[in-house]
Amino acid sequence: MAKRPILVLPEPLLRKVSEPVTRVDAQVRALLVDMFETMYEAPGIGLAAIQIGVPQRVVTIDVARKDDPPAPQVFINPEIVWASDELSVYEEGCLSIPDYYEAVERPSRVRVRYMDGGGRELEVEADGLLATCLQHEIDHLDGKLFIDHLSRLKRERAIKKFSKAAKRENAE
Ligand code: ZN
Repeated sequence: MAKRPILVLPEPLLRKVSEPVTRVDAQVRALLVDMFETMYEAPGIGLAAIQIGVPQRVVTIDVARKDDPPAPQVFINPEIVWASDELSVYEEGCLSIPDYYEAVERPSRVRVRYMDGGGRELEVEADGLLATCLQHEIDHLDGKLFIDHLSRLKRERAIKKFSKAAKRENAE
């Protein structure tokens, strides 16, 4: 088990499209362990493998409330097969865009087809926070970030802020 460093904007790998998993083998199981450890430690409610530099379509999520017991969920090769016309707005953040939050509008409910940690093919209909989180993480697998859903002005401002921070760090 190992916590792994989380890639931060403007890291170019975050824009890479991840590859489907063909088999849930020991490598994938080890990746899941690392992802949960990294996500809980951050702390965050969702993580895509590409955020720790692994371009595979693997997502970990836990949207349990703080006082409730942990409810880890694994989504391998997740795919949105249906989305509601109804939309909801959530204030979103991202472990790869630290301390930056903006309201994002997305479908309120989605049906997602995926494989669980045991390699079983499943489907879930999600609403509320889980629906938003699933869409946010599936975006990561396609190289998209939540700032892509904002106005161009806001997006460019965010990218500029993080690019400057990265330059400062490199200069130090
Ligand atoms: Zn994110």
